[in-house]
Amino acid sequence: MALEDYRKKRNFEKTPEPEPRLGPTRKKGDELFFCVQKHLASHLHYDFRLEWNGVLLSWAVPKGPSLNSADKRLAMQTEDHPFDYGMFEGVIPEGYGAGIVMLWDYGTWEPESEDVDAALRKGDLKFRLDGYKLKGSWVIVRTHGYGGAPNSWLLIKHKDDWSGPIDITDFAPLSVKTPNADFAEILQGKTPDLWLSNAPARSGDTGAMFKKIIERALSMSSGNKHEDTKRTKPNKRKTSAAKETAPPKAPPKAPQKSTTKRAPKK
Ligand code: MN
Repeated sequence: MALEDYRKKRNFEKTPEPEPRLGPTRKKGDELFFCVQKHLASHLHYDFRLEWNGVLLSWAVPKGPSLNSADKRLAMQTEDHPFDYGMFEGVIPEGYGAGIVMLWDYGTWEPESEDVDAALRKGDLKFRLDGYKLKGSWVIVRTHGYGGAPNSWLLIKHKDDWSGPIDITDFAPLSVKTPNADFAEILQGKTPDLWLSNAPARSGDTGAMFKKIIERALSMSSGNKHEDTKRTKPNKRKTSAAKETAPPKAPPKAPQKSTTKRAPKK
């Protein structure tokens, strides 16, 4: 699979995103990698990526994955990304995807469909995830023209020990790479003032979110620690809801503590 679309959309002089490398980056027999990058750009979305044939198959999920098997989350397939992109977290100052990228989850995946390439062609891939936040059995299924869009799929959690009525994006909103960092902490020190007059989104909910994050990043940079207490925490109702339902059994951990995962090195 080619990474030409990925390359064409980016100017590697200007973006911190990795340039595709030549040659194989993975050995046969390695476990397959998956990740979800929470991406605050012109709109907030979650980029869901599955390693396959040396690249990361990619879908933008506007509402993010849901652990509730009754939810069907729209997932727009986007250009394949290089394997090295999988652990990327940072700030894209301008151009395509300008905004803040948080590594929201990562881990390994394994197919439940027998023939992955055939399943992808058919548009119905079943798989298991083993991440910090997302686990168990899932399916991603092509919808054939939802709203006329040819690249639209639905990401759905299968009912199992890891499904349940919990809003995982709300319950576990922070980074798994920089332990518990939020968008403002990722932006801190990366010249947030650059965006004071020219944020990737300036109106609506996303514009308001950017404004708050930029202000918080600036105040952290200037040493105002008091602002740190403003970080979003799950409210009590949601916390008790999480206790009533089984998942997630293990709370999100700092990725550094895991030695069993085969995650790409940065
Ligand atoms: Mn994105």
